[in-house]
Amino acid sequence: MSVDAPLPSAPRLIIDLDAVRANYQLMAEHSGIANTGAAIKADSYGLGMNEIAPLLRDAGCSSFFCAHVSEAMTARQILGHDVEIFVLNGVCFGEAPLMRQKQLIPVLSTPEHIALWGEAGENAPAALHFDTGMNRLGLAFDENIMTQTKDLNLNLLMSHLACASEPAHPLNQIQCKRFEDIKKAYPGLRASLANSAGVLLGKAYHHDLTRPGIALYGGAPLEEGGPALTPVARIEAPILQVCVLKKGETVGYGASFTAPEDMRIATAAIGYADGLPRAASPGGFGRIAGQAVPLIGRVSMDLSVFDVSALTQPLQAGDTVMVLGGDLDALAKTAKTLSYEILTGLGPRFVREYKGNGA
Ligand SMILES: *Cc1c(COP(=O)(O)O)cnc(C)c1O
Repeated sequence: MSVDAPLPSAPRLIIDLDAVRANYQLMAEHSGIANTGAAIKADSYGLGMNEIAPLLRDAGCSSFFCAHVSEAMTARQILGHDVEIFVLNGVCFGEAPLMRQKQLIPVLSTPEHIALWGEAGENAPAALHFDTGMNRLGLAFDENIMTQTKDLNLNLLMSHLACASEPAHPLNQIQCKRFEDIKKAYPGLRASLANSAGVLLGKAYHHDLTRPGIALYGGAPLEEGGPALTPVARIEAPILQVCVLKKGETVGYGASFTAPEDMRIATAAIGYADGLPRAASPGGFGRIAGQAVPLIGRVSMDLSVFDVSALTQPLQAGDTVMVLGGDLDALAKTAKTLSYEILTGLGPRFVREYKGNGA
C-alpha cells in the first residue's frame, strides 16, 4: 500500500459540500428578500474554509464573516476580490493598513476601534456593531458615538442576538426594537441582525443582510424544531476489535460500565483527541449500517467502545462506525454542549474527505 493513500486505521471525516450548498439555499429561502451572507470563521466551523467558502460564493453568497484578521486574509486569498469580507473582532493597533490593502472590512465594536480606523485615514469602508442586549462586544448607542462615526465610510450597521435559539425569549423582541431605533439614526445604511437562528425568527429580524453560520454546517439553530437541515459532517471510525464482554466484566478507564449480561462490544479508533467529547458517554451513540450503537464506558484519548449486541449484521475489525452525521445535535445534547463546539473541536488527526462539488 502506498504511504500516500489514507491508511485504514485512521478515522475519516467526510464533509458533504452538496449539503452545505443545500443548507445555504435553505437559509437564503428563509431570509426572504434580505441578502444571505455566511459566517466562515474558525475555518468554516472546523470543516474547511478552503473548500467551503468558494462553494458558498458560487451559490451566490457575497458577504463573508470571519472573526480574526488572519482568517479574513485567508478568505481573501481563497475568494478573490469580488466579495466583501468582514472582520467581526474589529481592528487592533497596527492592523489597519493591511486590512485596507486586502479590502477587509472591520466591524467596529468599541470606541478604540473607531479611533484606530479613523486615524489610519483614507476612509475605507467599515461596519458598525452596536450592542442591543448581549453585552459581549458592541458599541453603546449614544450621541457621542454618532458624532465619532459621522465621518466614517460606513457600509453596514449590525447587532447580534443573544437568545435567538429560543424564539419565545423576551430578549429577542427587545433587541429587535433597540436595533430599529439605532437604524433610524443611520438612515439608508444597510443593516444586519440575524445569525442562523435569527433567520428563523421571521421577517422583522432579517433587515438587509443575514449572517448564518451553524445552519450551513448542519447544526440545528433552534433548541427545538426548525426546518430540517442536511447533515454535513460525518466521522467514519475504523473498528479495531470486536469481542464478547462477559456479564460482570467492566469497560475502560475507571471501570465505569459493568456488563449486565453477556454482550458484544466493538472498540473503534476515535477518542477525545479527535473531538468526541468525553461527556458523550454514557448516552451517546454511533451508527453501524444505520443502526444506533451506544457508547459504553469512558471515551479515552484515541479509542471508544460501543455496545454492538443488538446489531443484526455480522461485524469484524476493519468495519467502521459512523459518528455525527444526522446525530450531531443529539450527541451535542448528550455531552451537554453544542454542535458549534463539537464541529470546531474536531481534531487534526482525521483523514478529511470532501464529497460532492457543491454545485
Ligand atoms: C458567529 C456569528 C454569526 C453566525 O452565528 P450562527 O449562530 O452560527 O448562525 C453571526 N454573527 C456574529 C456576530 C457571529 O459572531
